[in-house]
Amino acid sequence: MNERITQLQQSLIAHNVDLVAIGPTNNMRYLAGYAPHPDERLCLLLISPERVQVVVPALNAEDWMMHTGIPPIIWEDSAGPDKALAAALAQIPALRRLAFDGATRADFLMTLLTAARPDAVQSADALLTPLRARKSSEEIEALQRAAAQADRAMQAAMAACKPGVTEAEVAWEAETAFRRDGAESVEFTLIASGPNGAFPHHHSGNRALQVGDAIIIDIGASLNGYKSDITRMVFLGKPSTEFLAAYNAVLEANRAGRAAVRPGIPAQEIDRAARGVLHAAGLGDYFVHRTGHGIGLDVHEPPWMMEGNDMLLEPGMTFSVEPGVYLPGRFGVRIEDIVAVTETGVRILTGFEHALVVKDF
Ligand code: ZN
Ligand code: ZN
Repeated sequence: MNERITQLQQSLIAHNVDLVAIGPTNNMRYLAGYAPHPDERLCLLLISPERVQVVVPALNAEDWMMHTGIPPIIWEDSAGPDKALAAALAQIPALRRLAFDGATRADFLMTLLTAARPDAVQSADALLTPLRARKSSEEIEALQRAAAQADRAMQAAMAACKPGVTEAEVAWEAETAFRRDGAESVEFTLIASGPNGAFPHHHSGNRALQVGDAIIIDIGASLNGYKSDITRMVFLGKPSTEFLAAYNAVLEANRAGRAAVRPGIPAQEIDRAARGVLHAAGLGDYFVHRTGHGIGLDVHEPPWMMEGNDMLLEPGMTFSVEPGVYLPGRFGVRIEDIVAVTETGVRILTGFEHALVVKDF
């Protein structure tokens, strides 16, 4: 943990930033190993090139101390956070440039700006992204365990797909499978059946599955803080030639995206590899989103696999490869894997088979 904070402090000096402020988000979890329950009470980790301080509401102080060992500056509900914050800021010799964690509540930022009056404020992303994007081997193993858990939940969701069962019921099977398997939270269970599959971010609803449906199952949970995210498909009955052609094109795009992964190439090349296959198949216009997103403590985090991102892939980066096509009113197809960049190429963390699962009724 201390090594992460030391790296951030070096980055502060390099970027000429006097203080970075981080609320109880995954950025705090990444740096301190712990983040209290986020609510309206001001809680800020304040890191300057010389100091690490934290302002914590009294009710979370003991938990904080137990998990991090960093002595907090405590404030009581009846007193409010102003004095505690002022005491911390008094330790910062000159606060010209402040960096603030973009995932932290805006009211914390406004309180801090009123108390500190810096000359300039910037997002902390430029400081934190390079650190968080390169996962350690322990983090990659944590993501591997999360991915294996999602494989098992996918099996449970697929088993539940039958005519007459609703999307919400299938989602619940995935959710209970994750929970029984030790997930501390289920992040999303997206079941999109038949025409609903044409909405990339469909909310599972009360539509009953029927013979002739293509069903997108996109699920993810949190295991020891690290997230999973996988998409596979089931077909009820006999798939049409047109659906199979779309499925095979998306699978080929998914394979091409994964095969392109290696250190030293720009992130946009992964998008180009997948998109090129769908264009060649005449389906390019139906691929309406980027090819992938980074994954770690957050389900969606940098780096982004998209046109225009020339960030070079480095060993330890982890992200999704999830091309899809969406035919309005008819069906959607998406196939998603999680991959890690290795020293020489790619490691696929998702283990679930890629072939279309066809259930005949
Ligand atoms: Zn997904
Ligand atoms: Zn995803």
